[in-house]
Amino acid sequence: MSTESSTNGVRNLIIIGSGPSGYTAAIYAARANLEPLVFEGSVTAGGALMNTTDVENFPGFPDGIMGPALMDNLRAQAERFGAELVADDVTEVDLTGPVKTVTLGDGSTHSALAVVLATGSGYRKLDIPREDELSGHGVSWCATCDGFFFREQNIVVVGGGDSALEEATFLTRFASKVTLVHRRDELRASKIMQDRAIANDKIEFAWNSEVAELHGEHSLESVTLRDTVTGETRSLDATGLFIAIGHDPRSELLRGQVDLDDEGYVLVKQGSTATNIAGVFAAGDLVDHTYRQAITAAGTGCAASLDAERYLADLE
Ligand code: FAD
Repeated sequence: MSTESSTNGVRNLIIIGSGPSGYTAAIYAARANLEPLVFEGSVTAGGALMNTTDVENFPGFPDGIMGPALMDNLRAQAERFGAELVADDVTEVDLTGPVKTVTLGDGSTHSALAVVLATGSGYRKLDIPREDELSGHGVSWCATCDGFFFREQNIVVVGGGDSALEEATFLTRFASKVTLVHRRDELRASKIMQDRAIANDKIEFAWNSEVAELHGEHSLESVTLRDTVTGETRSLDATGLFIAIGHDPRSELLRGQVDLDDEGYVLVKQGSTATNIAGVFAAGDLVDHTYRQAITAAGTGCAASLDAERYLADLE
């Protein structure tokens, strides 16, 4: 493996994204002497966990760790081994040739022989007041991550698809009551998921309803529900609100170059992080419909770096 970080200005590896997948890829690549260049994004460097409080399921932290502290640790670890971190957005990419080029907002370009795509995905929001402020203080997008915090409490789940019903059913393990709030009077979810939820006596349904307001001084205490037909409102006590209305992979940059599935997730070859383009690898929530956890993102970030390392070695 070459220890040169660049050849005629062409780097070994560029990593786009700074969540658990991007930083883990950076740690591995830096320790392999690839001197990766990491574009972290200008607004949300650190990724999704920058918007949360306690993370209790990332292995190695028996007492849990705050999301931003975990990301600071990953960042520092990548930097310690020589990753170059740039808090800027990539606005354009040209990945198809043997030398890949990325362009930043200021028009500057950077080239590398290999690229790891790790831009994650965004959870869809309700776009109501105080949603961001109460994120990590009662408002959540991940039952697997946060359900444990709501033992014997009242929880609201918003959504009508399979994932909303899966979250609602999972949350009944902890909650005293789960209210599923859905804008229409029928669900989109598969029949089997519906039957399971309807049979669960901890789940109530608020049909033709939407969450209009969030209340609580420091953390969520109640929500206002609005009837989507009559416009009438009512208050519902709840300390947890789980928003399960979908997510959007951040793959706009890649359209027309890297193969995406119907929902915009990057397609990778089975058992690998390789995309359809030689030298381009993808990791984390940008690829993952299913698990969407910090540890799985970190795991595939590691794999993407190892795949890139092998690709570069084969070029020599
Ligand atoms: P992300 O973390 O989304 O990071 C991608 C980052 O890439 C972006 O944020 C941005 O900084 C950067 N980026 C994007 N586009 C560009 C661009 N064009 N140029 C440069 N940079 C770019 N998981 C757990 O395991 N445990 C938890 O407790 C937990 N809690 C969560 C709480 C909340 C509120 C949320 C939203 C998620 C939580 N998750 C949790 C899920 C976890 O955060 C994600 O699965 C994980 O962060 C995905 O990592 P990633 O690296 O794929 O992407």
